Amino acid sequence: VSAPVPWGGVATAARCERAGAADTGVDVVVVGGGPVGLGTAVEARLAGFEVTVIEPRADPVDKACGEGLMPGAVKALARLGVTLSGRPFRGIAYVQGGSRAQALFRNGEGLGVRRTALHAALTARAEELQVRRVTGRVTGVVQDSTGVDVLGPSVALRASWVIAADGLHSPLRRGVGLERTAPAESSPRYGLRRHFAAAPWSEHVEVHWQPNAECYVTPLDDALIGVAVLGTGGETYDLRLDRFPEVRERLGGAAPTSPVRGAGPLRQRAASPRAGRVLLVGDAAGYVDALTGEGVALGLACARELVDCLAREAPGEYDRRWRAVSRRYRLLTEGLLWAGSRPRLRARIVPAAQRLPRTFAAIVEQIAR
Ligand SMILES: Cc1cc2nc3c(=O)[nH]c(=O)nc-3n(C[C@H](O)[C@H](O)[C@H](O)COP(=O)(O)OP(=O)(O)OC[C@H]3O[C@@H](n4cnc5c(N)ncnc54)[C@H](O)[C@@H]3O)c2cc1C
Repeated sequence: VSAPVPWGGVATAARCERAGAADTGVDVVVVGGGPVGLGTAVEARLAGFEVTVIEPRADPVDKACGEGLMPGAVKALARLGVTLSGRPFRGIAYVQGGSRAQALFRNGEGLGVRRTALHAALTARAEELQVRRVTGRVTGVVQDSTGVDVLGPSVALRASWVIAADGLHSPLRRGVGLERTAPAESSPRYGLRRHFAAAPWSEHVEVHWQPNAECYVTPLDDALIGVAVLGTGGETYDLRLDRFPEVRERLGGAAPTSPVRGAGPLRQRAASPRAGRVLLVGDAAGYVDALTGEGVALGLACARELVDCLAREAPGEYDRRWRAVSRRYRLLTEGLLWAGSRPRLRARIVPAAQRLPRTFAAIVEQIAR
């Protein structure tokens, strides 16, 4: 067996195998089978790693989400060989009272896809590539210089690398000491979503703005719309939606087709996206807000960097590359949140976007990537 490698060293799976590291069960264990966990598993498998995904929930996994895949996510999933069905959307519209600003994506379309359909498509691709799937909840990891023991009530595995893709409140992030307490937010933000049996009325994802709340409308198929509301406080979904009379009016008496699901507080931080052989990706690596609808695109882009770092035997590079890839999202979302939290500025966001169509189109282009 190879000599002990310090944290941040370069003992990749391939290297361990070559050195005859008998205690390494699989190359990569992915904790969490959400879209980013499964996407990372597919990416890692395509790079030649042996991969196991651990997820406690039964198929198909659902979650509170706006369900708009930005063009960057659509391209990333196509590159991974994932076949999706959904309803294309061509751009983003910001709406506030009588003001509307809209811009089309310049390169490619977005896709409205139910989370359950996204999960099924990713699962099918993972199975095609012989990614091993284990049903269970991870409750702890123990690292040493050659690998990581992954433990839980029905889980006992050893891997060269563990990828924590266990979501917004990532237990693994906390477990390996990477949880960074955000400065106490006076008004933490939450998201709630529900589906309605209604025909889409726009070829854009619409973001409706009201004081202290936003409402996302995503076309999902010819007779299904997803409506997500974001904001502070503990209001019920219906009360929140009542703040958007134009959306209520458009929905008419359309029947809800799903229960309300929620998530939050949305802002989550990690001190670093890596602790030794445990690497964080997706929401687990830190999240600002759902306001720009980029979670899946960003998670998949970071997954690509992560797997490339492992394949090139340079896990120590992941921190820098995660920061570089996520920077644009963090700056844009923080900027919008900052402006949105100041009532006078907030009231001007949509009228300004309408008055400055090129600027708005440039922002939409950033979101599309
Ligand atoms: C209201 C709202 C609207 C949004 N709208 C959009 C949008 O329109 N477009 C977009 O791209 N993004 C959107 N997002 C963000 C997007 O939903 C997330 O970025 C995305 O789900 C992140 O995927 P993930 O795989 O990292 O995490 P998750 O989807 O949260 O998956 C994590 C998985 O880990 C599993 N897990 C948790 N703990 C353990 C454990 N101990 N052991 C094993 N498994 C575990 C969970 O069961 C879960 O399946 C929205 C988010 C919200 C809240």
